[in-house]
Order: sequence, then structure tokens, then C-alpha cells
Amino acid sequence: MPEGLPAKDALDFRDREALFRRAEERTFDLIVIGGGITGAGIARSASARGLRVALVEACDLASGTSSRSSKMIHGGVRYLAQGDISLVREAASERQILRRIAPHLARVTPFLLPTQSTAGLARFRAAMWSFEKLGGVAREERHEVWSASEVAEREPVAALEGCNGAVLYYEFLTDDARLTVANARSAAGDGALVLTYAPVREFLREGERVVGVRCESTLPGEQREMVLRGRCLVNAAGPWVDALRELEDAGEGPRLALTKGIHLAVPHARLPLERTVLMSAADRRPVFAVPCAEITYLGTTDTFHPGAEYWPDVREEEVDYLFEAAGRSFACPALRPEHVTACWSGVRPLIAQSSRKKPSEISRKDEVWRGPGGVLSIAGGKLTSYRAMAERVVDRLAKELGASKATGDTHERPLAGGDFDPSGSDDPTQEGERGRARLLDLYGSELGDVEAQGADVAAEARQAVCREGALRLEDYWQRRSGRSNFDLDAGLASLEPASREMGALLGWSEEFREGEVAGCRALHRDQNRLFREARSAAEAEGGME
Ligand code: FAD
Repeated sequence: MPEGLPAKDALDFRDREALFRRAEERTFDLIVIGGGITGAGIARSASARGLRVALVEACDLASGTSSRSSKMIHGGVRYLAQGDISLVREAASERQILRRIAPHLARVTPFLLPTQSTAGLARFRAAMWSFEKLGGVAREERHEVWSASEVAEREPVAALEGCNGAVLYYEFLTDDARLTVANARSAAGDGALVLTYAPVREFLREGERVVGVRCESTLPGEQREMVLRGRCLVNAAGPWVDALRELEDAGEGPRLALTKGIHLAVPHARLPLERTVLMSAADRRPVFAVPCAEITYLGTTDTFHPGAEYWPDVREEEVDYLFEAAGRSFACPALRPEHVTACWSGVRPLIAQSSRKKPSEISRKDEVWRGPGGVLSIAGGKLTSYRAMAERVVDRLAKELGASKATGDTHERPLAGGDFDPSGSDDPTQEGERGRARLLDLYGSELGDVEAQGADVAAEARQAVCREGALRLEDYWQRRSGRSNFDLDAGLASLEPASREMGALLGWSEEFREGEVAGCRALHRDQNRLFREARSAAEAEGGME
């Protein structure tokens, strides 16, 4: 293990047998099913209150929706339009908390909303005033109004004919997968058992009551089942919540409405924005373009999706929808499918409402309900309010389970990597360099440890295995390093060096290592089929400019 880290905070899953033994040797107070942000947040809140917790995840941490979001920690301004004041207050307060406990996972980022009319500008300003008042936004982070000439000077790509100005305000960006891992690590630091690649296949019962789960390892080459016993169980399986409810009591019927959203990354040089810019899509839904080092990403869509999937496909009409919005919003050559360097899509686990509601009108509020076997299921919600949601669930359980602390301290105790002051003199971004800023965003206060290991792909892979629970190459590539989305080559060049380091640490054979590299490449090809075909066609027609 890299030096300098208290072992208790590390997710080091290399000794799987020891994990299985721990899983089977005791009865847990709480078994949480699903290692997305909802489950990891609940595991953290519960273990911080002294409960004995097991968190079981079917694949890797954050392998579902929690690595496919738009990566925004919303202040809540968008909920104003829906008149949901309590959601505005909660979102605004949660983003301040996240900034305190994990500054590297809550980057304050300017958002720009260009306007076309005096009435539009006035409407948005009024919304911002209410939001800033309700959300207690600090004076230095309140909105500004730009004139048309300021837009032309400061964000020229967004200065279209007819633009009469813009409102600039601040939101936070995060790394959703790493936020999830940081919560799981903190839970482990407080004694939680975290077990990945172990889907729940069956509930164990005493009479009607569910008293445990049977899991099965899905790690290649590992044939193992285990039984975990728990006094309480929480189903936090995101889009798969209904599938687990079905295991609890076949015939209860679905409660979720899943909606899909896609994101497209293009080279920053093709859409050279300085700030996130909000656009209006053809159906007037707000969509956005976010500059992020070498790329700019566009998102997102919101369409009903029939089933829970790890890799929902990206369709031509969804790509057209985002490119059409960009085409109307930016003064730059048209974006085309062959320009896409990476894409990601996910499904929102929303609570079904009236059948007449459009996907974007369905509430993002979380709901908790108890099934006939006693399992508590939770769905809905947002990444932004995961901590508050987790505290509410654990408040409900704490009394029944005799937690040693009635209230949690997750609002003040830093997450793994979060114990530094980004405005202080030890902020490495002050030294300017882009690569270092990326590492600071990934590792926060652990940056120095990664630098001491060489700050290269191998050092990142080592950190991923020894501290962050990575067991497969895809875990590093997709959910620990951000490279699959944010590198110009979608992180393909990192696969070889990362797999060599991981292979050495995890005892892979050469054949297995090559299979892992081939698997990631195949996933990339599959996900990017549309864009590869477009690129080949463009090259055949005379090359891409
Ligand atoms: P998941 O992350 O899907 O986690 C569920 C986990 O359960 C998965 O890891 C899965 O493998 C596991 N699982 C399934 N079956 C089993 C089983 N049998 N045994 C064990 N484990 C199992 N929110 C924001 O706040 N800001 C945003 O910018 C934002 N953008 C979004 C954009 C899109 C396109 C989408 C789809 C969502 C967005 N959201 C955003 C919402 C947010 O991402 C989700 O609310 C959140 O990630 C849901 O997390 P979860 O843990 O409930 O589900």
C-alpha cells in the first residue's frame, strides 16, 4: 500500500477471502445493497453512527448511474421554476457542505446563460435573486449580468447575433464516481465492510421477514457464494431497485420510471468555451456545454427508457438533439458525429408519477418505502442531495438499531482526500500546471502521495488498487481516473501501463491482463460505434479537417 494513509481508510480488496470471511462471520446491523452514491452515502452515514454495516455491490462501485451523471452539484436554481422551495434550500446547503468535506469534489464553476431579450434577462435575474436569498449564497458568488459586448469579449463562441447579454452564476462540478468511492472509503474507515462484484441473488428469510442475502462473486475465475445476515436491509440499487423488490416479493409491481440521458465529449478546440454555457434545445429543455481541460462535453437528454442497463446505447436522434442545440447556440463550425471523442449515458431511477408527465417533468425527489419482507427501498433523488438523503434514511433506522449516535457528523468530517483548504497556500493549482490540477481534482489532499509514486498512469493505477477498491482494468479506466471520458483518446493509451501495474498488484496472468485490455477496447468500440462509423466515412471522403 502507498505510504501515508491510515489503513482503515483504504479500500484494498486484494485479499478477497478475508473479505468473504468478514462478510460471513457476523450479523450486521445494516446491509446496504447497491454501491452507487445512494448506497455508499447511506453506508457512510450509518457506520459514522457506530452501526455495523455491509455494503454489497453487483459490479464496481459507481458502475451504474453514479458514473453517468452530468457531474453537477446543483445549487437548486432549477428547482425554483418548479416552485420546490425545500429542494432549493436543501441543494444549496448540501453543496456548501460538500465543499467543506471534499473541496476537490466540489469545484466552483461559472455558468453562463446568454439571453436574447430584455424580458428573458429580467426573468432570470429575478430567479437568481430569489435563489441566492433562499440558498444563502455568499456575496462573492452571487450572479453578475454581462452586456452583449462583454459576452463578445469574454465568451466569444457564445456571442451570437441577437444576444443581448448574459447572466453569470456559479454551480459546482464533481466527479460522481470518485465521490461515490470517497463515501465508500469513509464508510470502510468507520468499520463498514465493502464488497464489490458480489450481486445479491436471493433474500434469506425467517418467516416473512428478510434477514439476509445470498451473494455470488462475479469476479472472473472466482466461484464463490456467500451469505450475509443483517438486522435491517436497504435496497439502494438505483435503476435495479424494482428488480430487487421483485426478489423480495414477486408481484408487487414496478415503482420506478427510468429515463435516459446521454453526454458527448468533443475536443475543446472544436468548442472552445471558457465557462459552462446553458443552451436551449429544440423542445426548450435546458442543455449545457461544459469545458473540461482537453474536451468540452454536451448534455443531456431525458427520454423514457424501458429497462435498467449498465451501458444504454447512444442513438442517432439523441446525438442530433444535442448537436442541434449547440448549432443554434455557438458561433463555431458545426459539430458532427465524427468529432465525438467519448460518450456516456445512464438511466435515472425516478419514482413513477402520472403517465401524462414528460420525462423532464418527473420529480427528482427521493422516496423511501418498506416492502413486505421489511426491506427499505430508496429511489429518486439526485447526486447533489445524496448526503441529506442518506442521513434521513439512517435517522429512520438508527433508533430501531440502537445506533450509538442519534445524529450523524457527515456534514463536518472530511471525505477521503477532502482534508485540505483549496484557498490555502498549499493549493497545488497555484503552480499552474494543467496535469497537476487534474490530479488535485482526483486526489485532493492525497495528491502528494500520488506524486511520490511518480504521478503517472502506473501511480494512478496503484492508488486505484491499493486505496480505492479497483479490481478490474475497467474500474481504473472508467471510474477512478476519469480518462475514458475526459482524455482526448478516451484513455485508450492508459490501458497498457495501467493494466501492467494492476496485473502486478492483483496477480494477473499475462493472458488475463491482455483480456482486460481487449475488454476495455471492445467496450469503447461498442459505445462509440456511431462515431467510429462517421469518422471512417469522413476519412474515406477526404479526411477530417
Ligand atoms: P446507481 O448509481 O445506479 O447505483 C445502484 C447500484 O446498485 C449500481 O452500482 C448497481 O450495480 C447496484 N446493483 C444493482 N443490482 C444489484 C444487486 N442485485 N446486488 C448488489 N448491487 C446491485 N444528479 C445530480 O445531482 N447532478 C447531475 O448533474 C445529474 N445528472 C444526471 C444525468 C443523467 C444522464 C442521469 C442519468 C442522472 C443524473 N443525475 C444527476 C442523477 C444521479 O446521477 C442519480 O440520482 C444517482 O447517481 C443515482 O444513484 P444510485 O446510487 O441511486 O444508483
